[in-house]
Amino acid sequence: MQGLVTKSTGSWYQVRTPQGELVDCRIKGKFRIKGLTTTNPIAVGDQVEFELEPDQETGVITKLQDRKNYIIRKSINLSKQAQIIAANLDQAFLVVTLASPRTSLGFIDRFLVTAEAYDIPAALVFNKLDLFSDEGLEILKEYTAIYESIGYPCYLVSALNGTNIAELKSKLKDKTTLFSGHSGVGKSSLMNAILPKLELRTNEISEWSDKGMHTTTFAEMFELPEGGFIIDTPGIRELGIIDIGQQELGHFFPEIRERMNDCRFNNCRHINEPGCAVLEALENGEIEPSRYESYLSIYHGNDTRA
Ligand code: GDP
Ligand code: ZN
Repeated sequence: MQGLVTKSTGSWYQVRTPQGELVDCRIKGKFRIKGLTTTNPIAVGDQVEFELEPDQETGVITKLQDRKNYIIRKSINLSKQAQIIAANLDQAFLVVTLASPRTSLGFIDRFLVTAEAYDIPAALVFNKLDLFSDEGLEILKEYTAIYESIGYPCYLVSALNGTNIAELKSKLKDKTTLFSGHSGVGKSSLMNAILPKLELRTNEISEWSDKGMHTTTFAEMFELPEGGFIIDTPGIRELGIIDIGQQELGHFFPEIRERMNDCRFNNCRHINEPGCAVLEALENGEIEPSRYESYLSIYHGNDTRA
């Protein structure tokens, strides 16, 4: 039988059949992933084949289908091991606020670089719109203009009073969307506003605890009534950045990527080289200084801004 992994504890996997049945499955045998040592071979978003156990209730995953993409988190303890957080994403949305707690531009840019490196389209959801006065709104629009001009859609919403939630939902239809964000930005409130029946989640969790399954999940997937899925990553502040070489970094900034071929030197670092098209654009005001600053701090590997 075929199914989609919608929840994982590392030993138990909740698999959803095309008919909407949920089957708790274990893994049999080894699943190797090329070029990666992982603590968990299968993750939320994976398409798998499984067989029912003789009890007809639980299942065994026998095959992992090829992935379109996947995101990882580096294990804190074992530096060479990674955890796969989720697979087969269509897009990644970062929930941010310019109200308390204010999300830093460095944090936003790091997220966007990671999404570029994974080749996953990204968008920014500016929440807590209700907290902004007219003056505040102007500033908010300046920020969104920076990101929209380089190709990242921005949505201004309020989870509290429902502003623009319908528009946001329309962007989620028939897609698998990952939601990330700093704690306090209102990610849970937003997911509650998007998913009418989040209480389902609490029921499911208690059922899993009853069976003795640990409920500390990396990620969890919810079906949208309009079609599509959203993936929540509780407790994960940011995506694990794949090792990005300094020479590659410019490729993950769209505004640098589109200019780098015009640099005089083809190994230009865009730091102090003569004839650098990126520096020229920065001086002309075509590249946003905060974005360039993020490029430099990631380049030098001293990006400690939270
Ligand atoms: P999470 O940590 O990102 O999941 O954030 P929560 O959803 O728990 O929200 C954090 C705080 O922000 C709570 O006090 C929410 O009530 C508040 N909050 C969430 N969304 C909004 C919003 O759109 N407007 C306002 N004013 N407060 C919000
Ligand atoms: Zn250059």
